[in-house]
Amino acid sequence: MMIKNDIQQKLLSIVKDENLKIDELIRNHTYTKLGGKADFFITPTTYEEVQAVVKLARTENIPFTLIGNGSNLIVKDGGIRGIVLNLKNFKDISSDGTKLTAQSGARIIDASRFALEKTLSGLEFACGIPGTVGGALFMNAGAYGGEIKDVLDYAIVVDRNGNLVKRDAADLDLDYRKSNIAENEDIVLEAVFELKPGSYDEIKAIMDDLTFKRESKQPLEYPSCGSVFKRPPGMFAGKLIQDSELQGASIGGAQVSTKHAGFIVNKNNATAEEYISLIRHVQKTVKEKFGVELEREVRIIGEDLLKEES
Ligand SMILES: Cc1cc2nc3c(=O)[nH]c(=O)nc-3n(C[C@H](O)[C@H](O)[C@H](O)COP(=O)(O)OP(=O)(O)OC[C@H]3O[C@@H](n4cnc5c(N)ncnc54)[C@H](O)[C@@H]3O)c2cc1C
Repeated sequence: MMIKNDIQQKLLSIVKDENLKIDELIRNHTYTKLGGKADFFITPTTYEEVQAVVKLARTENIPFTLIGNGSNLIVKDGGIRGIVLNLKNFKDISSDGTKLTAQSGARIIDASRFALEKTLSGLEFACGIPGTVGGALFMNAGAYGGEIKDVLDYAIVVDRNGNLVKRDAADLDLDYRKSNIAENEDIVLEAVFELKPGSYDEIKAIMDDLTFKRESKQPLEYPSCGSVFKRPPGMFAGKLIQDSELQGASIGGAQVSTKHAGFIVNKNNATAEEYISLIRHVQKTVKEKFGVELEREVRIIGEDLLKEES
């Protein structure tokens, strides 16, 4: 692999100075407010730049990580080596008839609001999901009975070789909180949704109802990654955690939410190590009590802090 200064120079031949940050603190980009430094935090402004970064990372064997809004990620305290790509500059949303096109860095909440303005129905479920469009496709995000799979027509991606490719929804293997985007090493640039004509008042009423439910049940006053665990078949992770008397349990600054047992909140400047230890403690306790393995929904990435740094 190239040395840090050489990588910096190569990246600066692709993007402008203001779109490359060195040793950027990732906790400023995650909902949990966790995570150490990223070596190279890059925010391209054109698709060609994204393609060039992918090609560089591949040919020079530089580790490469993509983050969206960081609402489903725990980044470890030692941060992320290599390039971290963030697509926050790609935010356009437009519609043509019943098709809504959103760039991957747009918030799925904004796509949902845009659909409301155009009286298009289908994205109401996404009105409170704090991720980007790219992250929502990656996770097949869903809520209250709806999911991306129901409305996605196709996506435009940059594939692992740096080529722009169209992927039909059926090719993405969208399933409960997963897709094959990671496996294929695709970077989503745009999503095209097929929606249905609807009535403004009805769409708005559904969105208001879902927002009310979310705000009354979720501990939105603290940093978190949303539901930490997937729903085990036929069960609710939150109920198992509650029945294991884990609500309020804490390790360092991380706490199992007293409002919603499926959430772990960063209540008081937790480290990623504390947050992850609490996740493991919950998994172990639920397994011992009920014999159920809780599978994580949240992704954990990055490096542990080296002992001499702590
Ligand atoms: C308070 C709260 C409530 C939540 N409620 C819900 C909910 O109701 N339903 C639900 O499904 N989720 C929910 N989530 C989780 C989260 O918002 C979703 O999983 C969301 O889709 C993640 O998007 P993101 O942009 O934040 O992705 P990130 O967390 O940044 O990344 C998640 C993964 O997606 C990949 N990724 C991101 N962008 C792209 C891209 N452009 N191309 C390819 N891969 C990409 C990343 O590499 C990473 O592996 C909630 C989270 C919070 C904090």
